[in-house]
Amino acid sequence: MSGELDYMVARYYSSSLGRFMAVDPGDDTVLEDPQSWNKYAYVRNNPLNRRDPDGRKVKMTGTKEEKQKRFGEITANLTEKEKAAVKMKKSGKVKIDKNAEGTSTAFKDLSVAVAAKQTVTVNTSETVEYKSGNAVVSTDLKGVGGGMVVPTNQSLSGNVEVHIDPRGNQDGAPASVVMSHELFGHAADLVRTGVTSERSAIIEETKVLADQGKPPYRETPDE
Ligand SMILES: [Zn+2]
Repeated sequence: MSGELDYMVARYYSSSLGRFMAVDPGDDTVLEDPQSWNKYAYVRNNPLNRRDPDGRKVKMTGTKEEKQKRFGEITANLTEKEKAAVKMKKSGKVKIDKNAEGTSTAFKDLSVAVAAKQTVTVNTSETVEYKSGNAVVSTDLKGVGGGMVVPTNQSLSGNVEVHIDPRGNQDGAPASVVMSHELFGHAADLVRTGVTSERSAIIEETKVLADQGKPPYRETPDE
């Protein structure tokens, strides 16, 4: 890890991105050397601060269809009873019934994300832009095919951003597993503790699957 240097987590290593990403001991990618990206970077004069003053929400973005698809990938990890207590408003904002009692890992993680000080956005994105030092860089997720999480200190919106590639995942991971890794793993870690790791995201992903009686999708890396 690189302290205040670039810190970013992208699910599913891609050889096309590998040229300018360092690979961490998991099979995830961590971007650590902004200098090496200069040829991919451009400076944006006035990054818009789109921080949401409300905070405390998980919000789907994009078209109606994209919002519904991403919301479906989230709720696919919940029990039937929990599903009934979780709704998405037209705006894309996720609401959890105040009286709901959920027991699954996914429900607990979603509740943490909804109640967090930060807003967590869930975006459908082929390309992700984020801050790297004074520059704004752009990464095409083509070939990554899974998802990426941008922490608040690197996001243009000031939110924790979850990005899901609509073109799918080249390793064949189901979309709900990709979502659980990114949202319940990395993003929930970030709102809880400000940091995340590939190992902790895989542990969370594995717990979410276990709650559904499913085997691990991937092996948990050693510490
Ligand atoms: Zn990851």
